[in-house]
Amino acid sequence: MTRLKVGISACLLGDQVRYDGGHKRSSFCADELARHVEFIRLCPEVGIGMPVPRPTIRLEQHGDVTRAVIPKTGEDVTGALQAFADRAVAQTDKVSGYVLCAKSPSCGMERVKVYDPDTGHAQKTGQGLFAARLQQRYPALPLEEDGRLNDPGLRENFIMRVYVYHGWQQLVAPVSKAALLEFHTSLKLLLLAHSQQVYRKLGRELAQTEVITSEFCRYYIEILMQALATPASRANHTNVLQHIQGYFKQQLTVAQKAELTELVLAYHAGHQPLLVPLTLIKHYLREYPDAYLSGQRYLQPYPLDLKLRYAL
Ligand code: SF4
Repeated sequence: MTRLKVGISACLLGDQVRYDGGHKRSSFCADELARHVEFIRLCPEVGIGMPVPRPTIRLEQHGDVTRAVIPKTGEDVTGALQAFADRAVAQTDKVSGYVLCAKSPSCGMERVKVYDPDTGHAQKTGQGLFAARLQQRYPALPLEEDGRLNDPGLRENFIMRVYVYHGWQQLVAPVSKAALLEFHTSLKLLLLAHSQQVYRKLGRELAQTEVITSEFCRYYIEILMQALATPASRANHTNVLQHIQGYFKQQLTVAQKAELTELVLAYHAGHQPLLVPLTLIKHYLREYPDAYLSGQRYLQPYPLDLKLRYAL
């Protein structure tokens, strides 16, 4: 697998490009994720020629239009930021995910303050101009903010989606039905943990589609990414683990089956992390190889040393 690329707000890698000359280094991104991905870093505000340090920008609501304005001077930088975003976003088609700096009028993914220019009051209803362009152009692209990555569940979910999206990007155009079916099959257990309904719906639609058009591919990845963004419940993971357990029913002794059942139930009750029953399952998979199970992304959705399943 080629080293995947992830876009990132440059200040999150420690670049001193913020308005105050500082940075917002994310140690997860800069120290851990950087070992596995190639980061494509961008600072939209420096990209439009603003200096460091610089006066702050804020979003303002003018009628139906949201503008990026420098309150100190009244200068409107909306057009410059949008033009930069359009150029930059067009060059980011190879990235498999994007980590954005929260709250920024340029990079913020959500809940960015939007000011009423008359009253000076703000509501957290906006999206950074660069982030908005990115989402419009690649609606299925996994996006996440630095602060949310401190939550173990959100972090795991984002990284899992990045690796799945990367897998989809590896399908060579024109994508054959066989290739997309193989990809879909590899996601069966992962999707069952997030949405059985979507697994079946996409499988049905894929079976009924004669020729895989680029429109169908885009439709497929958008529905898939929406489903995977829904957190997998403990009950759904338990169902998946029990489903996997069924593959070993011929090989395991009564005592081994009882031990695995106990670990799955301990996970279900919240007494053990997901990693514990999964480790035993992988041990049995090494002992009793099964091509179908080995091909399931659920068992190895991302590099193990990111330690993302320790807290699930
Ligand atoms: S949040 Fe975005 S615009 Fe602001 S310093 Fe970081 S990269 Fe630059």
